[in-house]
Amino acid sequence: MGDKTKLAVSPAIQVGGSLFTPDQLAKIGVVAGSDSKIEMTSFKQLYVEVTMDKQEAIQEELRLVGLEVNPAGFATKSLIACNFCKGAEVAGLETARILNQAIAGIATPTPLKVGYAGCALGTSEPLLKDIGVVKMRDTFDIYVGGEPKGIKATTGRLLCTGITEEQLVPVVSTIIEFYKQQAKGKEKFSKFVNRITMEQLKQVVA
Ligand code: SF4
Repeated sequence: MGDKTKLAVSPAIQVGGSLFTPDQLAKIGVVAGSDSKIEMTSFKQLYVEVTMDKQEAIQEELRLVGLEVNPAGFATKSLIACNFCKGAEVAGLETARILNQAIAGIATPTPLKVGYAGCALGTSEPLLKDIGVVKMRDTFDIYVGGEPKGIKATTGRLLCTGITEEQLVPVVSTIIEFYKQQAKGKEKFSKFVNRITMEQLKQVVA
């Protein structure tokens, strides 16, 4: 048996939340094989252990059944979105999908979580993510530096408000790129925000 690696597998961003179909789950089981470990992560991705030599073929098979496959580990996770209970249009499903496509799987100094909520109720807990996007009527607010772990857990702080649909991907991509360029080694995003300061980050995305 060859060396193993992990793939981060998730269903499409959709109304109803992280819904796998029975066929998709069956496919994951078949391609992974009976001696593989499959881990349910806290960020809505399944980590599926596969052999290195079959990695590309397996990715292709999973994508053919509508699954998204991204690198595990030090990369942006797929967008951690809400259930869009207010409906696809009101909660901004298409915008969330576009954002997910733009940011999922980017290599980063530490694993990076980006949350999305379709309204201010924020049931996907966007303020506990590294970057949190909240849809407010027709525009978006962006929070940064949420830290859910440890005894000093904190919520993200408001970085910018009134962001239009067209501005959203450029702004979030700019934050991620700035983090990649300026982080000191494997500096966590919340520590990075504290060191860089909100004022400087505001200037970067202005
Ligand atoms: S964040 Fe708002 S739109 Fe999204 S599932 Fe929660 S209540 Fe519904």
